[in-house]
Amino acid sequence: MIDEFYIISPTLRRGRYVKESFEDKMASLKGLSEEEMAKRLESMRDVCKSYCGECPSYTGTGESSLVFCAMGKSSIITEEKGCLCPSCPVTDMMSLRWKFYCIRGSGKEQAGLGGGE
Ligand code: SF4
Ligand code: SF4
Repeated sequence: MIDEFYIISPTLRRGRYVKESFEDKMASLKGLSEEEMAKRLESMRDVCKSYCGECPSYTGTGESSLVFCAMGKSSIITEEKGCLCPSCPVTDMMSLRWKFYCIRGSGKEQAGLGGGE
């Protein structure tokens, strides 16, 4: 399950637990093996099917790729007709704070941290 693959524990800072930011989570993913990253992406893809896969911006476009929050923009989707990302569990698990990743770019891109994975 996806929980195995995500860093969801809060961080102790100055005696208080705070939720890790997207940037903190991305930093803690550095150093993972390619195999580990592939497992995580596969897990995200399974979840994403129920969100991107059902989203009005996605359905009917012929797009079959998923996980735009990690992989970056779609080359097919161009119209923002609604985005289900805010209700996707990956949003909370990765502390994502954007939407329309298929059009606007991955979390990293929207955070100004560089391109999609
Ligand atoms: S990123 Fe958002 S707008 Fe794009 S397909 Fe997924 S849910 Fe829809
Ligand atoms: S946050 Fe959006 S793009 Fe990322 S896995 Fe969830 S539905 Fe897909």
